[in-house]
Amino acid sequence: MFYNQFRRFAECFSEPLLLLSEQGRVLAANPAGLALLGTDAEALPDPVLQDVISGDQYTAERFLQACVHSDTPVSATLCFTSSDSASCMACVGHLLADQEQTPYGQRLLLVRCVADYKSPDPNSSAAEALHHQRERLVHVGRLSTMGEFAAGIAHEINQPLTAIAAYAQAGRRLLAPTDTGTAELLDKINHQAQRAGQVMQRLRGMIRCRDSHRELCEVNRLVQETQVLTEADARLHHFHIRMCLADQPLPVVVDPIQIQQVVINLIRNGLDAMREAAIATGMLTIYTQRLDDDYAEIRVCDQGAGIPEALYNQLFTPFFTTKPQGIGLGLSISRSIIVSHGGKLGVIPASGCGAIVYFTLPLALDNGDD
Ligand code: ADP
Repeated sequence: MFYNQFRRFAECFSEPLLLLSEQGRVLAANPAGLALLGTDAEALPDPVLQDVISGDQYTAERFLQACVHSDTPVSATLCFTSSDSASCMACVGHLLADQEQTPYGQRLLLVRCVADYKSPDPNSSAAEALHHQRERLVHVGRLSTMGEFAAGIAHEINQPLTAIAAYAQAGRRLLAPTDTGTAELLDKINHQAQRAGQVMQRLRGMIRCRDSHRELCEVNRLVQETQVLTEADARLHHFHIRMCLADQPLPVVVDPIQIQQVVINLIRNGLDAMREAAIATGMLTIYTQRLDDDYAEIRVCDQGAGIPEALYNQLFTPFFTTKPQGIGLGLSISRSIIVSHGGKLGVIPASGCGAIVYFTLPLALDNGDD
């Protein structure tokens, strides 16, 4: 009865909608959802999410757990294998009802498949996926740089604007009460200075508040994917990138493109440092590990000249750079991204040569997992 009501309600939506139990059993779906699953109404409730998506079981299970435990909708890219042509969909899932709220005493999840992410051609999927990944990284990189530029400029310009407004107000106070013409002009200066300040703030906010697309990801996998994107850079200078990844999976709910952007920034800085130190063959090592306090930590260690302690305070200031061609935004952008994900980014004083830059991310753990 309940599921029939859901079906009738969901029929009017053209995007696939799935009603799932927390174990992933598909309890009901609208026609678009059934088409995606490659099944018909009679066959339900047989399919289980874990069985109808490609890739490992882990992705589906972690997605379900994240939906159950998160207060906000959770995004994931799921590739459904049961339809005629495999479809990768950007899905958003959330807890629709808790045990007490349903007639069957179980938690219900609603999953909306909001966009056809890509329909991979089996022959070119790896190359295409890499191409898409690169494009998205470049796009996010540009957006972040613009945001940080706007923030930097807003900061620089706000100070003189505030001073102009303050001088105008002070000048007005010193005026003879009869000098109404000058008073009016000073009011206008004050008003325009404040308006310019608001425009800068709005611009800054607009660029910063772009949609952040969070989904359940696995840290080791995110890091491994960046290796493919930076290896050519490394090889060009006879450097090698080595991965020392944690044995266990490190699940996190993040914007994967932003996090990869951070890893790439740190790798590029490491490679730059090794190039500047003019070492013949250098090794850049990325470590991942789970910390005791339920955070994942990622460390990028290079064999360059290291970062002088005197610079630690300035590293994250926008536009600080020691490179002739540098912009000085990589580290400040990276720190903003990590802080917005609830983590920390910093430098560990290295005992030997080279620099160690690390960041942390809160792990997405289900209750009782340790
Ligand atoms: P950019 O790379 O454009 O200079 P960043 O914000 O990424 O901007 O870095 C700021 C500065 O921090 C660099 O110019 C460099 O002096 C220092 N730095 C960052 N990473 C390293 C590193 N791995 N080794 C040595 N110095 C580094």
